[in-house]
Amino acid sequence: MSAGFRLAIAIAVMSLAGEAAGYVRSTSTTDGVPLRWLESCIAVQPDGRGSQDLPIDVVNDTLARAAANWSSRTDSCSYLRLTTLPAAGPIDVAPDGRPVMVFRDQLWERSGIAHDPGAIGLTTVFHISSPGQPGDGTILDADIELNGVNYTFVTEPSTTPARPGTEVADLENTLTHELGHVQGLAHTCWDHATETPPLDDQGNPIPDCDGTVPEAIQMTTMFPTAAPGEISKRMLSDDDVRGICEVYPSSEAPPACYQEVDGGCQAQPGAPAAPLWLLALAPLALVCRRKRA
Ligand SMILES: [Zn+2]
Repeated sequence: MSAGFRLAIAIAVMSLAGEAAGYVRSTSTTDGVPLRWLESCIAVQPDGRGSQDLPIDVVNDTLARAAANWSSRTDSCSYLRLTTLPAAGPIDVAPDGRPVMVFRDQLWERSGIAHDPGAIGLTTVFHISSPGQPGDGTILDADIELNGVNYTFVTEPSTTPARPGTEVADLENTLTHELGHVQGLAHTCWDHATETPPLDDQGNPIPDCDGTVPEAIQMTTMFPTAAPGEISKRMLSDDDVRGICEVYPSSEAPPACYQEVDGGCQAQPGAPAAPLWLLALAPLALVCRRKRA
């Protein structure tokens, strides 16, 4: 091997180490098993009650654009198909196998339990929790809530003012991040939701969100904080893309699309999961916050 060849390899490795951020998977709250869907298509639908800030057709279009931010990058390397449905309802957060997106415009809470007022959005991932049993860690539903009490949701953050007492949040930026949670990805820095820092896909502990976070990690869509009016999460990093394409690779035979088989996302996933659905459903809440001052 020539000296020149060895040097080239060393530079390539250093470059990777300096730029790679890694992706992080959400894990079961009981035994730490990584979560994943065992179906090949997910369709997210807005609650028909909509938003105080935006017409419902704008909400539909923005959710579709946020889904396309993922699918335009992942459809070539993953079998998972992330799509949207037009608003209907009222529909709300529930472990019903039907992924929904709900604006909370009056009270930032669910079932009387207040959410963190600093949170822009919150995705609850319902999954099977049956340690040691088949199906453990299977995602059955994932629902998004958006904080319309403390944030004004807009599509043109540079020109749209916030309602009094709120901050501007770009809806597409927020939804692109939350859709990462829907698909099973977690934050790329340690948000203290777990006792110890999770490992990224490279096996490295991720940095504390409260400490110094490398810029490469701050640029991932799955970084949990956003400055007012931020739009950079609309564009996925290569690590965000790998997070989907390595968990749901197109080289694997895709599982069924229950949406197509059963004629709608209201259908619960397949028979093997049904008994566990009732016995061992565990919610995992993932919160995306505003950037700390
Ligand atoms: Zn988040």
